[in-house]
Amino acid sequence: MLRILNGAGFRAVCSNKKLLKDARRLQSTYDVAIVGGGIVGLATARELILRHPNLSFILVEKEKELSLHQSGHNSGVIHSGIYYTPGSLKARLCVRGATLAYEYCDKKGLPYNRCGKLIVAVEQEEIPRLKALYERGLKNNVRDMTMVDAKGIREREPFCRGIMAIDSPYTGIVDWRMVALRYGQDFEEAGGRVVTGFEVNDISMATESPEGSTEGMKHPIVIRDTKGEEVRSRFVLTCGGLYSDRLSQISGCSREPRIVPFRGDYLVLKPEKHYLVKGNIYPVPDPRFPFLGVHFTPRMDGNVWLGPNAVLAFKREGYKLFDFNARDMVDALSFRGLQKLVLRNIPYGLGEMYRGINIAAQVKILQKYIPELSVSDVLRGPSGVRAQALDRAGNLVDDLFSTEESATSAVVSFTRSPPAAEGAVFCVLEPHWKPTPPAPCVARVAAAVVVLVFVWVENSTFGENGGRETAPQT
Ligand SMILES: Cc1cc2nc3c(=O)[nH]c(=O)nc-3n(C[C@H](O)[C@H](O)[C@H](O)COP(=O)(O)OP(=O)(O)OC[C@H]3O[C@@H](n4cnc5c(N)ncnc54)[C@H](O)[C@@H]3O)c2cc1C
Repeated sequence: MLRILNGAGFRAVCSNKKLLKDARRLQSTYDVAIVGGGIVGLATARELILRHPNLSFILVEKEKELSLHQSGHNSGVIHSGIYYTPGSLKARLCVRGATLAYEYCDKKGLPYNRCGKLIVAVEQEEIPRLKALYERGLKNNVRDMTMVDAKGIREREPFCRGIMAIDSPYTGIVDWRMVALRYGQDFEEAGGRVVTGFEVNDISMATESPEGSTEGMKHPIVIRDTKGEEVRSRFVLTCGGLYSDRLSQISGCSREPRIVPFRGDYLVLKPEKHYLVKGNIYPVPDPRFPFLGVHFTPRMDGNVWLGPNAVLAFKREGYKLFDFNARDMVDALSFRGLQKLVLRNIPYGLGEMYRGINIAAQVKILQKYIPELSVSDVLRGPSGVRAQALDRAGNLVDDLFSTEESATSAVVSFTRSPPAAEGAVFCVLEPHWKPTPPAPCVARVAAAVVVLVFVWVENSTFGENGGRETAPQT
């Protein structure tokens, strides 16, 4: 009965709080619960329900709206997969993900702009690195990529100066939040339930069946929120973005890799200067430093963003310079991995902080690419906070998520989110992952689900057949 009321119908019927509360009480058990309503959670939920319409699904999100954090605060680039180590999951998924992202947008009528991207070398010493990057892109099968000289750069970006560049016309831009919300709509239309304002703070195994239940311990995992509401399920996937390590820990998985929040501040180009930038313009990344470097990015709304820099944020999900949370700070600073990363990158880190405060210094970097740009052409813009996964040795954990055996056995935690363009849901259950069931029925279902669902939900986000041809590798 309640499944019929799910989705849009559910919302319409539950037009007042009392009804909503009653409805919550009516059904609080599901086969699969997904925690986190960013693009990863929504894409996961969507794909799973499309593949398994006979299972019941719930997605819970702590905010009042979906995708307000990373998925709603990013550069909006559909990456083509040039940067990543050949053969890595990230490389394969990014390349495939870009194609599937375009297909999904076409199918759903979501706007995007395949405006291309130049990775520009402005110094001779950058040329070997640019060439190596190009080779990498070729190995990754990035589509339509070529090398261009100074003249080629000017033909594509008349105001950009450089010696040589990688031209990637397949790179595009999109509003990733819009895409994420559309996944949510697909999920609800397929019968999934979305509950917002549900901040999970406990995931545990039930010791007894719910009051009045005739199903015994069929749904042994209890997910509680900060207000004491609870739902039960057989399986849980946590996709918590900036809180993914804490959710992982709550669910009995490891807290590592640890999430360290890095804030990125953008500048915006004044409208009268939009003519300076046609597509994405990126620097050649310096391998000594962990981030890609500030870039010029046109937006779907016609604006042009410049940046972001990358500075340690004093608060997870804190978008302003002085946003501060003591727990987040202690957490980050006491983590050996971050200490090591900071020690290795002191000049870089200080430079990023300085440029975050001093617009002129940031513009100076950008002028290497567009000399005509001046400080009076830009304004301070929005910020985003990146969930950077770090291991104990201070290495950035790049290759997507870590999923681990958990105390509750049927819980999978994604501690590393991929860039949205990478298709969001490549749920990899590592081969060593074996469900150790709390109850026999879970074992049965777990085995089935491991094989059928979670092992390899490849680029599930995009398109009905997304990635299925490359499916399960157990
Ligand atoms: C500055 C910046 C620029 C970027 N640029 C690009 C780009 O150009 N192209 C690209 O492809 N990618 C880009 N990315 C990366 C991309 O945005 C992320 O990889 C992607 O959005 C991650 O999605 P997510 O669902 O994992 O995280 P999020 O979008 O952060 O979602 C996590 C969700 O979990 C919820 N949650 C957390 N804890 C709980 C809890 N206890 N209970 C319930 N819910 C909870 C949060 O409220 C949130 O809604 C960028 C990121 C940043 C920060």
